[in-house]
Amino acid sequence: MKLLQFFQIPETFDPDDYRMRRILNIIILFLMAAALVALIAVFSYGNSCSCIFSDPESLTILGGSIGIIVVGTILIALNRSSHIPKNVVGSILIASLLAVTFFSDTPKALTDGPSSNMLLLPIVLSAIVLPPASVFMIDIVVTILFMYAAEFQWVQFNVYALIIIWAVSAATWLGMSLANKALRDAHNEAKKNRAILDGVADGVVVFGVDNTIALANPAAEELLDGELTKILSASESAEICGRFLSLRWSTVQGVGRVAIVRDISRQIEIDRAKDAILGVVSHEMRTPLSVILGFSELLKVRPTPDMAERIRINALRMIRMVDNLLDLAQLQARALKMYQEKFPPRLLADEVDKLLCEYALEKQVALNITVAESLPDELTGDLQRYQQILVNLVDNAIKFTKKGGRVDILLAPHGEPEKWQMVVSDTGIGIPTERLPDIFEPFRRASDYATRSYQGAGLGLSIAKQIAQLARGDIEVKSTVGQGSTFTVTLPIKGGA
Ligand code: ADP
Repeated sequence: MKLLQFFQIPETFDPDDYRMRRILNIIILFLMAAALVALIAVFSYGNSCSCIFSDPESLTILGGSIGIIVVGTILIALNRSSHIPKNVVGSILIASLLAVTFFSDTPKALTDGPSSNMLLLPIVLSAIVLPPASVFMIDIVVTILFMYAAEFQWVQFNVYALIIIWAVSAATWLGMSLANKALRDAHNEAKKNRAILDGVADGVVVFGVDNTIALANPAAEELLDGELTKILSASESAEICGRFLSLRWSTVQGVGRVAIVRDISRQIEIDRAKDAILGVVSHEMRTPLSVILGFSELLKVRPTPDMAERIRINALRMIRMVDNLLDLAQLQARALKMYQEKFPPRLLADEVDKLLCEYALEKQVALNITVAESLPDELTGDLQRYQQILVNLVDNAIKFTKKGGRVDILLAPHGEPEKWQMVVSDTGIGIPTERLPDIFEPFRRASDYATRSYQGAGLGLSIAKQIAQLARGDIEVKSTVGQGSTFTVTLPIKGGA
């Protein structure tokens, strides 16, 4: 196997160079094979070793063949090396062939007789392994050698032989130039097509008739994580490597099947999100509306004292929902403005007290608010938005804590300088660890179990986190199922919008 590799050209070369080096290898191998045949013939003809070594003709063939095999091996080794410029090995080969041709016969036979045809071999080969125009260089060398031989009166100057050699050279040059140009054009066209294919966002995979991969663009490699054959068993769509893919197959005569692969995961995610949003919003709007409608009908026939209050609470729930949707839209359009004002931290605690004290009492959840003395008397930021964040966290904490539980709120300096924090901890139901990253996404709720028993559209935390980040702060959560959750909001003391 290793020996076979030695005779192959590594594919790291530029395609033109690679092609030329491969042809050169084939020619050298052909010459080496011919030398080997000659070697075997000499041995089988001579029969005994002593006879071969005493016969000068056998000795010449023996030496020549061994020489060709050795030089051929060296040339193949050089041809494989990227340090050797592309025309060097070809030039050595043609020069050697010229030398061998010149010295293999008498000057008379070479220039005058049939041996002159031998000179066509290096000329024609030079057009193949060197640039086509090199045939004329070789021709000039041959002509000079012809004239040299004639000058010394060894032979008559053979004009016809020269004319034939020049005519063959011109024809070879023309043929090879046209072939080279056609190859270059085809190569450029392939490069252009490859560039287009590489730039296409969709994956393109071409399977041969035997389902082997004939071509694949980088987008396909990426979409299918390198496992291109996985789509063979799919028809119109597939879920591969965690992605939803749409497939379009077509058959190209003589090539095989072409698959266009498109990642539709995002589309599916959007569709699912749309369904979820519609489901949550319609449920969150429909429930209070039905209550309002029901009580207002009842109000006409049998009014009871708490009816007006129930209508008010449900109307408030709807207003909160609409406010949240508006906030979310503003945040997503990056249009939410944060104000900078100085305020005492106590105002945050007061707001929670005002809005949620009754709710906590009703649920029999103990609510404790502590404002650390070490906190500056004045903080800077958007008080209303900070109140919105805190009220949302405390509202959730009370909502997800059972009777007899407690919710603690601490406003205190943060470990990092120039920062303060609002910490809301509860002894509630907790959030499963795998759902923690999700709860800050809009319309996501920690579990179906939670959604069934507790109302909410899954917007509050998403809005709170985005507002905190807009103020150059953040929200973090730690939670243990069955034990409770702690939400920590970090904000800059001097404001940060
Ligand atoms: P919702 O309006 O549904 O409360 P949020 O965005 O405020 O929306 O909260 C998202 C989800 O996070 C909730 O549905 C709930 O599953 C979970 N969650 C939030 N706070 C708590 C908490 N203190 N304890 C347990 N789960 C919570």
